[in-house]
Amino acid sequence: MYINGEWQSAASGKTFVSSNPATGVVLDSVPDGDRADARRAIDAAAAALPHWRACTAYERAGVLIEAHHIMLERRDALAALMTREQGKPLHMASTEVGYAADFLLWFAEEAKRVYGEVIPSARADQRFVVLQQPVGVCAAITPWNYPISMITRKVAPALAAGCTSVLKPAEQTPLCAIETFRVFADAGVPAGVVNLVTCSDPEPVADEILANSRVRKISFTGSTEIGKMIAGRAGATMKRVSMELGGHAPFLVFPDADPEHAAKGAALVKFLNTGQACICPNRFIVHRSIAEPFLATLRARVEKLVPGDGLQKGTTVGPLIDDVALKKMQRQVDDAVGKGATLLLGGSRLEGPEFDNGAFFAPTILADVTADMIISSEETFGPIAPVMVFDDEDEAIALANATTYGLAGYIYTRDISRAIRVGEALDFGMIGINDINPTSAAVPFGGIKESGLGREGARTGIAEYLDTKVLGIALQPAE
Ligand code: NAP
Repeated sequence: MYINGEWQSAASGKTFVSSNPATGVVLDSVPDGDRADARRAIDAAAAALPHWRACTAYERAGVLIEAHHIMLERRDALAALMTREQGKPLHMASTEVGYAADFLLWFAEEAKRVYGEVIPSARADQRFVVLQQPVGVCAAITPWNYPISMITRKVAPALAAGCTSVLKPAEQTPLCAIETFRVFADAGVPAGVVNLVTCSDPEPVADEILANSRVRKISFTGSTEIGKMIAGRAGATMKRVSMELGGHAPFLVFPDADPEHAAKGAALVKFLNTGQACICPNRFIVHRSIAEPFLATLRARVEKLVPGDGLQKGTTVGPLIDDVALKKMQRQVDDAVGKGATLLLGGSRLEGPEFDNGAFFAPTILADVTADMIISSEETFGPIAPVMVFDDEDEAIALANATTYGLAGYIYTRDISRAIRVGEALDFGMIGINDINPTSAAVPFGGIKESGLGREGARTGIAEYLDTKVLGIALQPAE
């Protein structure tokens, strides 16, 4: 763990291990923190706050720029570690390290653009000055699926704003978190400004973070179930919350779209990170008139995917994170087939010497999917593409919006009016139009409905770490 500028063991002396999901091989052991460690980390963050918030924006930006350089210098090593610990193919891990570094640079730049306001008063002798000031000590809880970029997306804006931070990473990817914090340490982030508590049981650490009134904000990325619990409990000490939660993205293909182009995009974004991305499509909603060519192209592309260990050349789909995920895939497939879906490809765990020690599920396509199947409402988070058909635009919009989630959505059409009309009608925070990647450090990332609260990235990302204060100033008449 990294607390108060030092690499430390857990107070209890306990450790836990991190393993490779492709091979089951144990990679290393890490400190298993608990409530006492979380308290030490919060103490350190609180002690470091006065100095860090008093640094100029230029000084804070300088540290983040240095972290950006170091992260890119270590890109290959960080990517290889990520592939071993999380499973995604090496080239995708390298892309993620680049994305993670983007947040360091973006927020270094934004640090210098935290502007206040001067607001006219109704009184001639009064001036209103509005300040934006750091929230204070912030806590962050991150998931395993993007184990480095989810850290920089939270810690970089916190540091840029003048906040200090305590982070608890996912138990499956503590080594990626440790190497990310090594970047912060080597970049010259002062002691106590960033603190890392690794643990196998999140609850004691979360209990301390939630109960401790010096923590003024919590930013969480993970499942909607845990996010709701954390947001509810954060109310007890009125902490600010940012919630980046689950998704159930619709992928709409209208009759005027090029079905081959749409299917190409579908295959790329559905199997991204083995389907373990919050913005992965969870429902393909395709016009009946082009369902056949769409499915044919999708099938041809998915057949070409190469599952395997992400470190092996040529691998395009890695393992799932664990056996719990494997069981969920099988349950969703069995339920859909039992209710009338047609299994076009895959549908079960991959077997063979190269797969038996890992959590590999075959890339799967289900056709004739209907709204009553579990996969139509539960987030899949795995390599299953369920396809349903529609007949008119209103029906497509209604199907797409028939979810409690509201994170990402996709529209394929060559009709600009339809693209805008449907884009405005969909209840999701990010929409790709003939495009499968509506994300960047420069644009707001986040969802509506039960997909979350607040936005990360963009100029909105730093606003989440700032409090607004008004100075009302009465002027004295000239002597
Ligand atoms: P998760 O089970 O909710 O875990 C996320 C984080 O919460 C982990 O660090 C986990 O720690 C911690 N956690 C679990 N139980 C907790 C508790 N009782 N109290 C406090 N913390 C607790 O989610 P996941 O399976 O890791 O991640 C997948 C989910 O994240 C999906 O739903 C995905 O859509 C969502 N996600 C959303 C975004 C976004 O930006 N909207 C991005 C990526 C992922 P442990 O690992 O120790 O259990």
